[in-house]
Amino acid sequence: MTAPKVALLGMILESNRFARPATEEDFRSLTWLEGAALLDGARSATPALAAEFAAFVRAMDATGPWHPVPCTLAASHPAGPVARDVFDQISGRITDQLIAHGPFDAVYICNHGAMVAEHSHDPDGELMQRVRAAIGAGPIIVSTLDLHANMSDQMVKACDVIVGYRTNPHVDMFERGEDAAFSLRRCLASGRRPKIAFKKLPIVPASVTLLTAEAPYGDLINFGQQRQAELGGAILNVSDFGNFVFSDTPNNGLSVVVTARDDPDVAEALASEIADKAWSMLEGFVRNLTSVEKAVALACDPERPPVIFSDAGDNPGGGGSGRTTELLAALHAIGAKNILYGSFCDPDLAIEAHQIGAGGRFTAKFNRNSGDERWEKWDQPFQAAAKVLALHDGAVVGERGITKGRQLSLGPCAALDLDGIRVVVISDRSQTADPVFFHMLGLDVGTATCVVVKSRGHFRAGFAAWFAPDQVYEVDTAGLTSPVLDRWPFEFLPRPCLPLDPETTWSDADHG
Ligand SMILES: [Zn+2]
Repeated sequence: MTAPKVALLGMILESNRFARPATEEDFRSLTWLEGAALLDGARSATPALAAEFAAFVRAMDATGPWHPVPCTLAASHPAGPVARDVFDQISGRITDQLIAHGPFDAVYICNHGAMVAEHSHDPDGELMQRVRAAIGAGPIIVSTLDLHANMSDQMVKACDVIVGYRTNPHVDMFERGEDAAFSLRRCLASGRRPKIAFKKLPIVPASVTLLTAEAPYGDLINFGQQRQAELGGAILNVSDFGNFVFSDTPNNGLSVVVTARDDPDVAEALASEIADKAWSMLEGFVRNLTSVEKAVALACDPERPPVIFSDAGDNPGGGGSGRTTELLAALHAIGAKNILYGSFCDPDLAIEAHQIGAGGRFTAKFNRNSGDERWEKWDQPFQAAAKVLALHDGAVVGERGITKGRQLSLGPCAALDLDGIRVVVISDRSQTADPVFFHMLGLDVGTATCVVVKSRGHFRAGFAAWFAPDQVYEVDTAGLTSPVLDRWPFEFLPRPCLPLDPETTWSDADHG
């Protein structure tokens, strides 16, 4: 095949069941690109769209002629379930484009894999099935998914190759996009049809236990990569998806997805082997957090080394509002000094700081409009005397970790000094996974002795140059991403499951 014709598309949303629904505006304000603008966005020197999408396009460009057909890529920050009309609108545009521009040799789908819709527990699978129905049985469908995907039978049936992130923090998005392109090139060159095997385990780990730099999850992923290497070219991809527990769907659970070059038995055997290995590692998928009281005491301890705190209950990267005040208020009440705190999402406060100007003093009112239906119950008002230290328009390029080299649009931003606590206020609901959130406002992470971030785990990659793993504390704050699972009214998780139901059992022979 000299120049394969490949459609490019995706709908990216990680849904927290307990967060407010994702609207059309949530997609429009982050990524909504079609046609030539989509292809141009992927080839930009500092892409603003999903890194794996950009990488897929570049890897296809680099490996020979092809005929890309850019359809639609829509992405939202993590939020609640997507409204049905929004899902229908995006998936409808995509299928119309496929029907208008087909036939194709292949389709690349760039999804997250943990989307929930008001009408469906599995809109990712539904979109993939609609794509398959639009293009027919012949073309290869290759899909990239986030490590937190909630894998379903529908997704596996619709796709030919599935490539999941292998790192958490997700610093390998670019490499996985390349993998998807390389696998597609191999399939098209060989004419062989890949086969996928899929195993689901009844364990729904919270994200804090899914770090890949440590056991057990890192060991599991390494094991899969090692077995793939040992099997030579028989396996195209091994992905171990950790699940996103807050989606609260029947498809939650740690899952193993193996794509074989063409032999279903090889895929099945390896998936079973990895699933057994995962089940043998169960005890590792639990974690103790640091209480707010202990964190505040630590912050005020003059003898300690520099530390970084994760405000774990309020991670915008998991659907959190980015404006809970519990930890900020506790630090302020005790008079903590020399704290860098980022980032509080409060457009009203950011705009007021811009009006006052750098150097100005005022009473900073956080969450002044709380009570509005879009506010969560944890988004309590908080106010303190403040000085405006610095201002920024929020257009920056990421420095380190998951957003390195990517364009970010954080909206009007300000640094406020609350008598020793320097708070970054942003206008876009983003997690503080990159030191650029501080550096853009002249706040130096390198000389800080206590940094607090609204991020669950991705900040580890961005701040690793200054904070070793034993200087990182996950603080047990309240909010939409509190990883203490028995606090949540889960309705749809497959039960029994670990760690919620200690009596849970599993064997591949029973459930494979
Ligand atoms: Zn993820």
